[in-house]
Amino acid sequence: MVRKVLVLGDIRDGVVRNVSFEAVAAAKLIADGGEVTAVLFGESIGDEALSPIHYGADRVVKVEHQDLKGYTTDSYQQALLQVLDAEKPDALIMGHTAQGKDFSPRIATKLKAGLVSDVVNIEIDGGEPVFTTPIYSGKAFEKTRIKDGMIIATIRPNNITPFEKDESRTGEVGQVNVEIKDLRTTIKDIVKKATGGIDLSEAKIIVSGGRGMKDGENFQLLEDLANTLGAAVGASRGACDAGYCDYSLQIGQTGKVVTPDLYIAVGISGAIQHLAGMSNSKVIVAINKDPEAPIFDVADYGIVGDLFEVVPMLTEEFKKV
Ligand code: FAD
Repeated sequence: MVRKVLVLGDIRDGVVRNVSFEAVAAAKLIADGGEVTAVLFGESIGDEALSPIHYGADRVVKVEHQDLKGYTTDSYQQALLQVLDAEKPDALIMGHTAQGKDFSPRIATKLKAGLVSDVVNIEIDGGEPVFTTPIYSGKAFEKTRIKDGMIIATIRPNNITPFEKDESRTGEVGQVNVEIKDLRTTIKDIVKKATGGIDLSEAKIIVSGGRGMKDGENFQLLEDLANTLGAAVGASRGACDAGYCDYSLQIGQTGKVVTPDLYIAVGISGAIQHLAGMSNSKVIVAINKDPEAPIFDVADYGIVGDLFEVVPMLTEEFKKV
């Protein structure tokens, strides 16, 4: 069934995030030959408006407003409801990011639409999309279809392959004016940690450290390996609780859920709560001195050894490649 599908782009620091291009690919599948429109919110969007078109969107609708400079639930909700009213799509797709998680249930409730959250795969069965989502912390998968009304779905980063970027693709870039009023929250300032690193939730490779690192300073070993591989650094809660690193690096049930192509777990035992955040990674490598550590049960490759010997060795070898 041909559908009109809207993708709400996730913009950070003026740049459309990769998950939005994955959402475009998901939208194309659901549209079944229908039109895919990316909606971008911001104070001023500029040339970045073309990027969803380079990744397969047919159209882009820019919504520029001073109250859309940064994400607030209130401003985005008001703006998106007006765009949805103007566009009347059959489906709305967005990333399962902090923004998407906060925002999608509110929109679904307002519109009495069906919402599927944290989608890792989409199949088309009899013309209808069937969404796969992990349940029980990733130990099982559920398939859902929305039988009635508008479809809203959030897609987990790094699970749906975006189309190849093609800068020769063209499409219409339009503008919708919105009215935003009576905001209960406004952003005065954004204070960010100067990590300079790769965003964990979108990283293709993650090097993650646990309590086995023994000290925060030893995380430098992981930084060195990560820099060599072009990876992001993550951590177990054990490492965060011990004060070795910031909680923003925590992966797991109460941290970030990641699905990189390669996850290297260093000095991490593999507690169930940690596995909940990384066990769907495509390839898992574990480095642990305890051959009985449960992390080896989910690892594709395991190195039993002292991380203080193994990690520098790996860094040196990868530098040669
Ligand atoms: P440990 O379990 O202490 O493991 C350290 C590992 O390092 C060991 O396997 C050891 O063999 C190895 N090691 C030590 N020295 C070396 C060496 N020199 N070389 C090689 N290996 C070495 N945890 C999370 O990670 N994320 C979560 O989101 C999370 N949420 C939780 C929510 C709840 C409600 C609860 C109760 C717990 C949660 N936890 C979470 C905590 C979780 O249960 C574990 O306590 C935690 O994951 C352990 O961290 P760890 O593997 O780094 O430490």
